[in-house]
Amino acid sequence: IFITAEGPDGAGKTTVLQKTCELLESQGHDVLLTREPGGISISEQIRHVILNKQNTEMDGRTEALLYAAARRQHLVERVKPAIEQGKIVLCDRFIDSSLAYQGHARGLGIDEVYRINQFAIEGFLPDATFYFDIEPEEGLKRIQKSGDREVNRLDLEKLEFHKKVREGYFLVMKKDPLRFHIIDARKQLESVLEETKNKMLEIISR
Ligand code: C5P
Ligand code: MG
Repeated sequence: IFITAEGPDGAGKTTVLQKTCELLESQGHDVLLTREPGGISISEQIRHVILNKQNTEMDGRTEALLYAAARRQHLVERVKPAIEQGKIVLCDRFIDSSLAYQGHARGLGIDEVYRINQFAIEGFLPDATFYFDIEPEEGLKRIQKSGDREVNRLDLEKLEFHKKVREGYFLVMKKDPLRFHIIDARKQLESVLEETKNKMLEIISR
């Protein structure tokens, strides 16, 4: 079973996935918790190219293609083998990030970015996707408070961009509503966790 987590920056995806993974393991489930590029050498190198643009402006389509390429390698090298071994795979971000960030927020078009990602994933969509919802103002505040080392880069990006990311996610969810479970990530961590765990157990047992 393949489950992904999505949401704007600062929604708490990583923390919630970590805790949910621990809970599932304590119940005897075989879980792989991963994230793109997931330590896959080829994907890490691609990610490095994307994140270290320095002063050079990277073309939007180039960026989208690189994310799709990194995604493909992580999918074939890590995700698919684990699923074939019967594991529950929890992945921090997947195709929907590209649709929201590159497709909508960067203006390439959700359908266009979907098409290049289809080439990369060959129809291998998640069985379920958790969308952790938060307003970008709130999400960015959380990141600043937590002292995340990525904060400098995030500061450079405009709030407007993150508002478009969130808007993009809602457009994506409208196209495929059955796959998504929306979690209100503004709530206290404890209640976000509780909601996620319950939904996750329901998905796994069906
Ligand atoms: O997964 P995480 O939240 O750590 O994402 C790292 C950064 O990569 C985020 O700041 C996000 O804005 C960016 N990102 C992106 N396009 C994607 C995926 C992530 O711009 N498709
Ligand atoms: Mg994270």
